[in-house]
Amino acid sequence: MKTGHLIDMDGVIYRENQLIPGAGEFVEALVATGTPFLFLTNNSAPTPEDLAVRLKHLGIPGLSPRHFYTSALNTAEFLSETHPGCTVFVIGEGGLLTALHERQIASDALHPSYVVVGEGVATMEKLGKAHECIERGARLLATNPDNWCPVSSEKTRPGAGAMAAFLEASTGRRAYYLGKPNGYMFHRARRRLAELALGELDQVVMLGDTMETDIRGAVEAGMYAFLVLSGSTQLESVGDYVYQPTRILQSVADLTDEIKTGAASDRLDSPAFNREGFHTGKSGHRHQTDLLALYKPRPRPAMTK
Ligand SMILES: [Mg+2]
Repeated sequence: MKTGHLIDMDGVIYRENQLIPGAGEFVEALVATGTPFLFLTNNSAPTPEDLAVRLKHLGIPGLSPRHFYTSALNTAEFLSETHPGCTVFVIGEGGLLTALHERQIASDALHPSYVVVGEGVATMEKLGKAHECIERGARLLATNPDNWCPVSSEKTRPGAGAMAAFLEASTGRRAYYLGKPNGYMFHRARRRLAELALGELDQVVMLGDTMETDIRGAVEAGMYAFLVLSGSTQLESVGDYVYQPTRILQSVADLTDEIKTGAASDRLDSPAFNREGFHTGKSGHRHQTDLLALYKPRPRPAMTK
């Protein structure tokens, strides 16, 4: 059985600029055994090269940029496949701008085919311009649906989802959200993983710390979904979700021996099924795609004389 791993980064490999204990040994074991792996992140700000350097500084050297797949790469791939020759007005950072440039997608501040919103800082002036482009007919696309992203255990920052929501409110147009949990992100990541593995894989494991993106996307894409508790999800909240992880692990360190020996342990029964009640935490929708259909504007009734 040839198994490949898709690995989320924040909350799985590192947290608050600190490597999660055992993460270095886990990646070492993947490399040493020739197990195919690809890091998968919704952060559209860094380039794959930036991420390789970041992991090197954290203590995981020797990774190549092709080991990383970001929502920025996913967005550029989506646009070049579905609309060759399109133009874009971008609110985003280097990772997104580079990915679009590499796919020969041109910038256009007057009549772009799309307004593309990614992670990073937006000014009112830029949002105003994006608003005008959408009013003139541009379609709204976000690299990922995250409303906020963790900066530290006490601090968050606004994400691409929140910025896209601003433009949804001002223009009355709905955005399309790429990145996890969108199936296009998982499908293309799986394809990249097969390219790295030089052949189709028998099974793919997604390792992540967030239920709404990592676990939901993996379940919907027909992959194994392993939840780690080293990031944003508490064990107590897992039972609140309809979709469930295949396995729950304290951290990626729990998998290192399995990777080394090639022997998978039995499925762990989720302790989350045995509890009642709901968790408390930061309130509000974590991701733009969590919004229920209830919030969608209803079509206006036909005009009658
Ligand atoms: Mg994460």
